[in-house]
Amino acid sequence: QETTVVDFLEDTIKASPDHRAIVFENESYTYKEFGQIVRRVASSLQDQGVKKGTRVALMMNNSPDYVFSYFAILYAGGVVVQNNPMYKERELGYQLTDSGSELLIIEKSLLDGLEGISDIVSKIIVARADDHPKYDTLKKLINLGSEDFEPVAIKPKEDLAVLQYTGGTTGVSKGAKLTHYNLAANVIQTDEFVGLQTEKQKEKLLNVLPLFHVYGMTVSMNYCIYLQSTLYLVERFEPNSILELLHNEKITMLPGTPTIYVAVNSAKNIEQYDLSAIHTCLSGSAPLPTAVRDRFCELTGANLLDAYGLTEASPVTHCNPITGESKPGSIGIPIYGTDCKIVDLEEGLTECKPNEPGELIVKGAQVMEGYYKRDDETEEALRDGWLYTGDVAYMDEDGYCFIVSRKKDVIIASGYNIYPREIEEVLYEHPNVTEVVVCGIPDAYRGETVKAFIVKKDASKDTEEDFIAYSKERLAKFKIPSQIEFREELPKSKVGKILRRVLIEEETSV
Ligand code: ATP
Repeated sequence: QETTVVDFLEDTIKASPDHRAIVFENESYTYKEFGQIVRRVASSLQDQGVKKGTRVALMMNNSPDYVFSYFAILYAGGVVVQNNPMYKERELGYQLTDSGSELLIIEKSLLDGLEGISDIVSKIIVARADDHPKYDTLKKLINLGSEDFEPVAIKPKEDLAVLQYTGGTTGVSKGAKLTHYNLAANVIQTDEFVGLQTEKQKEKLLNVLPLFHVYGMTVSMNYCIYLQSTLYLVERFEPNSILELLHNEKITMLPGTPTIYVAVNSAKNIEQYDLSAIHTCLSGSAPLPTAVRDRFCELTGANLLDAYGLTEASPVTHCNPITGESKPGSIGIPIYGTDCKIVDLEEGLTECKPNEPGELIVKGAQVMEGYYKRDDETEEALRDGWLYTGDVAYMDEDGYCFIVSRKKDVIIASGYNIYPREIEEVLYEHPNVTEVVVCGIPDAYRGETVKAFIVKKDASKDTEEDFIAYSKERLAKFKIPSQIEFREELPKSKVGKILRRVLIEEETSV
């Protein structure tokens, strides 16, 4: 049906006005208060000239101000332009210019060093601040705004809600055009799976994902509002304080990335915490190693489901079913209202046979309109309504999909196609490995060669040779890492994705 996330919030405010909506540090808001603030900010934004289609950029860490601003922009008819709070002036400037943002709502603590952007946008509003010498604050917008405000009527299938820039794991960020319909559809589609275990008004969802990222936006924020439940926010992921929250607040849902579950699994004194209230967790963004999943489920008794998605699909397209089989290493089956095919890697036209790897393509109500101002890339990514994901996958006879690699991550060594994930899975099974990533690095003789970067458990005395010997027992010769490097930590994106690109660049610049 043609609904929007604004409709979700309006419905929730009507159905559960006194229910706790947001909890953050020592702040807490009911849905009624949430609605009042959003209306006030939306009316102020309109006074500042925001109309249907005006791009308003957001740059904030997770906080209630983020959620209020996001919804106020949508209520006023504007388009939210999401920005990574770690961006420096050059990166932010690019996104503001590319998106044509007219206003920027930014957290006070992030303004330092970004003075140059005041030439790009016509107005800056400072969030998480009581006052500011130069700019209006969000607080002022709340105080001056009027609650007598109706959300602007929009056409869900036509009007843009969010310009969601791709994470940039593999290159330059592109703005994916997500409509109001795309966003709402993805919440409903996700609920078709997860809803079998959730109950409206009853859930306590702890969001440790950045809200500027499509995954935190849909699966945490928008889904929690749809569930009329309580959204717990933290500014940054810190394992021990997260465990306290899980334990004390009896959190029931913890969507995350594999790195988050790795951190929980390896936290000190984990057995002191009662994590038994958690029942459902969607893991996305990167492959969930089976060993990590099993350990987390053992600790909590929760269902940890590997799900798959991408910015261009708002994001979720696949998930392991909550009832029925969850296949190890699989991203599951297409979620409700989603079609998927595996096609040949060269032309992308011929469907592959079961178990034969090819490019994963998807179709559904959650798929973007295209990339903003990038017709060539849009033509490449969207063909006949199918979104070409750039991921290599295969589908088994039961329709379960398995991601093999990103097209761009495949290592080609001496003519062999090597998928880093397979080697990572093997190394993750080693008892002294906390985290691992495998990359193809340039090699004069083989073209590329396999290198593993490993974060070892504290007590481990294993050497490079030990890991190579371990791999030899489990992998064909051409897949065995020729180099192993131990690291204290691995470079990660804000959403916790290990950045292979950074490691490969380090290798090539040596
Ligand atoms: P880029 O900007 O280069 O596209 P990104 O990784 O930051 O990079 P996202 O849209 O955030 O862009 O991520 C989508 C990608 O994440 C997918 O194409 C896929 O490669 C990977 N991914 C997501 N979920 C899973 C999963 N469950 N298993 C394996 N890979 C996954």
